Amino acid sequence: MFDKLKEECGVFGIFGHTEASKLTYLGLYALQHRGQESAGIAASDGERIRVSKAMGYVNEAFSPDTLADLTGMMATGHVRYSTAGESRLANAQPLVVDSAHGQLALCHNGNLVNAGELKDALVRDGAIFQTNTDTEVVVHLFARSREVGVESAMVDAISQVRGAFSFVLMTTDRLVAVRDPHGFRPLAIGKLGDAWVFCSETCALDLIGATYVRDVEPGEVVVASAAGLKSIRPWPPATHAQCIFEHVYFSRPDSYVFGESVNEIRTEFGRRLARESRVEADVVVPIPDSGMCAAVGFAEASGIPMRMGLIRNHYVGRTFIEPQQSIRHFGVRVKLNPVRSILEGRRVVLVDDSIVRGTTSRKIVKMIRGAGAREVHMRISCPPTISPCFYGVDTPRRSELIAATHTLEEIRRYLGADSVAYLSLDGLTGAVPGGKTKYCTSCYTGVYPVAFPRNEAAYLQLALKLNGEPSLERPERSPEQDLDLDNPLAGAENVPLARAGR
Ligand code: SF4
Repeated sequence: MFDKLKEECGVFGIFGHTEASKLTYLGLYALQHRGQESAGIAASDGERIRVSKAMGYVNEAFSPDTLADLTGMMATGHVRYSTAGESRLANAQPLVVDSAHGQLALCHNGNLVNAGELKDALVRDGAIFQTNTDTEVVVHLFARSREVGVESAMVDAISQVRGAFSFVLMTTDRLVAVRDPHGFRPLAIGKLGDAWVFCSETCALDLIGATYVRDVEPGEVVVASAAGLKSIRPWPPATHAQCIFEHVYFSRPDSYVFGESVNEIRTEFGRRLARESRVEADVVVPIPDSGMCAAVGFAEASGIPMRMGLIRNHYVGRTFIEPQQSIRHFGVRVKLNPVRSILEGRRVVLVDDSIVRGTTSRKIVKMIRGAGAREVHMRISCPPTISPCFYGVDTPRRSELIAATHTLEEIRRYLGADSVAYLSLDGLTGAVPGGKTKYCTSCYTGVYPVAFPRNEAAYLQLALKLNGEPSLERPERSPEQDLDLDNPLAGAENVPLARAGR
């Protein structure tokens, strides 16, 4: 319902615990924000891997009986949002296969930019694909590897893929965590008694009572087995490109991601935003929940008090029945309601973490004005999003990114705000240690750290869904994006949603 980039996926794995599958279930519960389309758990009893997958939320996907069948001291799990491949059960993970190297369960967070090429070659060579996810190429490459030994076959397979990947792989007797050499997506290591845990975010460790040990480093392969924990670095070091959007929006603020507290980083974004774009105002209002941390920082640095001028209804399900299509903005109102006593007669600074299409933001600005606000100043705690992501994040096509096709003044008019300001790129990267050298900022710059495959034009055309636009040049404004800036209520509800990825 909200105008946000969509989360990618969450991965979890545990080695050496009698309640492995139940703890994986809890871990996935904590990672639910990273994917709501499907959930799956595979467990190994040392001889055989069993798997259970279903569409929907974690609490809908598993029953006590299902979990009881997933026996063994080792398990891995996945929550999925389909950044590549359509939403159907066959695409749910873990992918589990039998191969010459034994059984393998694979969970992936990220996006492989050369999966199409690899798949074409595998199909020409006789491979039969069961899913249309990018992840399945890894399973085929593993099964076909001539390397001797499971770990060597894994490394051989993974060496052939490019792009963003945090993998948790499980054989019948070991659990392996792998992070791509650029380190796009997070992957943490935890300890629970004698058990080892791998997970996308540390909030999953907190829920099961595990201790955060460290991150899997970019380009590192970590193997948990009866022999203990082993680290392998099979690839030469590469430029780090950790996804800065994990700190802006994706990750939970109670997590440590890339070794940093998301809450602290996000609050610092807000402080910097306040210093960069001062405004005379009476109250700072966060858009819940995404703007909360940045609003705290903004209020702190500006001295303007923060109040909860918008209240979120947390009990709205994924779907609701609209009584009348003609009720405008019902979709936003069902989730957010303005607090008139806080807003009436006040100059309001409205803080959010990002704007994608701008459709929700302008409805919220209108609601705030409708509740009596004298002025509304929109402040965004990241730079304008101008380019799609190819590394595991669901982005609309570029022509739908409002900042890619409109000036700041046009955006202000479209939103109906008195002023609009974004955090600068320097402000963003300055808030994270090693920001300029360790982080990917491609969706703000259009500069991509990992090259695309041989057939670059076709890849971009497919991924960007820009028929007839075979380059990364800034597109002309599309008719659907040609919004009526003086009448923010016109047109944009009809902008179709689109997904990047295959
Ligand atoms: S393009 Fe943006 S969302 Fe994608 S990995 Fe880079 S920073 Fe993250």
